[in-house]
Amino acid sequence: MAGIYIHIPFCSSKCAYCDFYSVPAFEYKADYIKAIKKEVELRAPEFKKAIGAEPVTTIYFGGGTPSALSPKELQDIYIALSEFFDLSQVAEITTEANPDDLTDAYIKELTTLGKLHVNRMSIGTQTFNNQMLKTFRRRHNAESALQAVKRVKEHGITNLSLDLIYAYPDETEDMLHDDIEKLTSLSPTHISAYQLTYEPNTMLTRLVKQGEIKPLAENDCVALYFHLVKHLEQAGFAQYEISNFSLPGYESKHNSSYWNMTPYLGLGPSAHSFYSDDRMHNPTSLTKYIKVLLDGINPAEAEGLTKQEMYNDFVITALRTRRGLDTTELKTRFGSTFHDYFIKQTETRVPRRLIENEGNGIVRLTQEGILVSDSVFTELIWV
Ligand code: SF4
Repeated sequence: MAGIYIHIPFCSSKCAYCDFYSVPAFEYKADYIKAIKKEVELRAPEFKKAIGAEPVTTIYFGGGTPSALSPKELQDIYIALSEFFDLSQVAEITTEANPDDLTDAYIKELTTLGKLHVNRMSIGTQTFNNQMLKTFRRRHNAESALQAVKRVKEHGITNLSLDLIYAYPDETEDMLHDDIEKLTSLSPTHISAYQLTYEPNTMLTRLVKQGEIKPLAENDCVALYFHLVKHLEQAGFAQYEISNFSLPGYESKHNSSYWNMTPYLGLGPSAHSFYSDDRMHNPTSLTKYIKVLLDGINPAEAEGLTKQEMYNDFVITALRTRRGLDTTELKTRFGSTFHDYFIKQTETRVPRRLIENEGNGIVRLTQEGILVSDSVFTELIWV
């Protein structure tokens, strides 16, 4: 199995919490699409060599805002991919979208394209609290998000992932509950729920520094987390990764490939790739990305992962999942030295209540461990 990710870097404005790479530079759209096509041409041979007989099974348009491109433009990128890859075994094609872009005309065009068949959509609903949507500088309100999701379903895309941000300033359990009820009433198959974080250089962090908003206390965040997990599970959503919940059989195939170290090719500015036991990243600048590609140069820079870094990636990504880390697989991939180090660290450095060991070689975080996952990872990685 292998995946392809395409980063669409355009956003018409910046959300207050966001530190993803995105720019309002729509005048570069045509050059961007030319550059993406060139990147496919330049990098396909190397990626195909790396995956060998493994088929491409997932395609993911992420951003930024993929719905900032017209359906036809998304299809143009898909056609470029199909010229270099056998896409006959692709089972999941996801596009992210913002509610404000999902007009009837847009969805109609997207669902009636001749070649690109999007069968999963991830919609940035975030919260149904209008005051917080304003603070977040989102471009939609609660009602328009509800209507957008309904429209998408009416046009036949029913495999839907909805985003939720929780633990925002002053949020109570009742407020979170209201968001959960509204989300689940839309019958999504998947929910990505992220605790609000205050990243450097975001408007949200500036608002905190200026004293205009106050982050929720740690204890309240913990209470909301447990409320979230309990109520999503009651609604039938299993937590299969720290921030991801799905109905049975609806785990994101594409994102699962990040967590089980399946190779993927990342195209577009700031996109990351993983194959041939290495990570690669593209320039985090739209204009630089376009220039390099229009000069015919491969923009991806290899990171040259060491075995220790590979081990660290493996440990962190596996422990983020409910499936957990398989110590037999760890030994096969990295040998006895890394395996024994992991076992010793789990036994001597991590309190028992934070990880569970089923006795069959599978180690996973407990709910308490998930809450302090970063400090658990610090004990288990190789430094
Ligand atoms: S739409 Fe998404 S990528 Fe764009 S600024 Fe908002 S959160 Fe960031």
